[in-house]
Amino acid sequence: MKKDVKPATLLAHAGGANDPQTGGIVPPIMPATTFSRGEDYALHNPDNTYQRPHSETVRLAENVIRELEGAADTLLFPSGMAATAAAFRWLPNGAHVVLQDGIYWGSTKWIKEFCARRGMRLSLVDPTDLHALETVCADGADLVFVETPSNPLLKVVDIASVARIATAAGAVSVIDGTAASPALSQPLKLGADIVMHSATKSLNGHSDVLGGVLSCREETEVWDVIRTDRADAGAIMGPFEAWLLLRGMRTLALRAERMSDNALALATYLKDHPAVEGVLYPGLDDHPGHDLAAAQMSGGYGSLLSVLIKGDMDRALEVAGRLQVFIRATSLGGVESLVEHRYSLEPHTGLPKNLLRISAGIEDVGDLIEDFAQALGQ
Ligand code: PLP
Repeated sequence: MKKDVKPATLLAHAGGANDPQTGGIVPPIMPATTFSRGEDYALHNPDNTYQRPHSETVRLAENVIRELEGAADTLLFPSGMAATAAAFRWLPNGAHVVLQDGIYWGSTKWIKEFCARRGMRLSLVDPTDLHALETVCADGADLVFVETPSNPLLKVVDIASVARIATAAGAVSVIDGTAASPALSQPLKLGADIVMHSATKSLNGHSDVLGGVLSCREETEVWDVIRTDRADAGAIMGPFEAWLLLRGMRTLALRAERMSDNALALATYLKDHPAVEGVLYPGLDDHPGHDLAAAQMSGGYGSLLSVLIKGDMDRALEVAGRLQVFIRATSLGGVESLVEHRYSLEPHTGLPKNLLRISAGIEDVGDLIEDFAQALGQ
């Protein structure tokens, strides 16, 4: 493939046309767990000894993501949480971790428990308030973890400022960019040290692969520990999943565009609906993070939005129950639209009981809007 092509071109060819032996224009799957040597005991391919550190198909998928992110290196993991855990496991006992409050509850739960087990100091902060972030970092920090746009509250964090504050505090900045995907935002180009994605979401986009990924701006000592730990401790994505991910990424540019358009149209429809109390979506002009999102995202604001239904929890569940096109299921970023009552999953985290989280898919937007119209019943 020609160098310096635009992301949509890179993605459409993801990992393809690389097999001079067969001429196949999609990549092959390499399931071999081990690789042979010649009579002289030299490896036939010096890059390949054993699949745990050396998976051909995983490498192909990593190369696509690395180029999209403008990263120095990229590592795939078997889930988003495995990637997040890898971004923390290098920290010494007693380290100081700064964590955005109110993000994906699975990350929050694991990070809190990990810090408690390892005797680490954990500071929770809302980094949309940069002064508050500076204050918790004032006496130094080791890792700052933020998620933007955040799930499910859709807060937008200033990545360049977080990176600057983290660096000044001596910390590694890690950005969970899952809700944006690398098609819409590249945090490393804004100065972040590491970007993480759940590849389960829009990177793959078809709700049929669990995966996670870390990419770094520079290959530092910390990155070296993360890479070595993955190879030695074995949190490796399988070749079949990596191949499905490559296949999914071929349409990422198109999907990200269509899902963002559908999400914006739904948000615009819902915000003026008399049965709706409010809509959280950074694509809306009156969202507090709109200007920042416009500056640090391009091509759309993502598929994720939340709607606050007028009334109580029973009313929100009633609306969710009446939807016929939206599927009631957890997760986000797939081609099919999903709706979820987050409070039912995480009643302890203080989320509004009337909040429905929506992941807009690629369906006809008229069908999506009509479905909400009938479900809201007005
Ligand atoms: N980060 C965000 C923002 C998520 O929404 C999720 C999952 O929902 C994860 C990380 C974890 O990813 P996975 O489920 O692939 O482990």
